Amino acid sequence: MPKPPSKPDPSREQKAARIVSNPSAYKVCEGCDSIVGAGAALCPNCHSFRFDVTAERVVKQAHFLGSREQNSVTAEDIS
Ligand SMILES: [Zn+2]
Repeated sequence: MPKPPSKPDPSREQKAARIVSNPSAYKVCEGCDSIVGAGAALCPNCHSFRFDVTAERVVKQAHFLGSREQNSVTAEDIS
């Protein structure tokens, strides 16, 4: 995966890379698409207990999150 020279939030990209390298340690919340640790019983964001544990989904979501500055819509996004 090619890396652009600069990112607004390198730590987010690093986190995504770490998830991609070990997807079995994570799962994706079905409620809000957050990536949480595989050991979590409930999503810390929306308290859902439904998760997609497939590596394919985790990797896909990690790439998606890593390519965005924030997961939520900001004031700048809607102005
Ligand atoms: Zn959630």
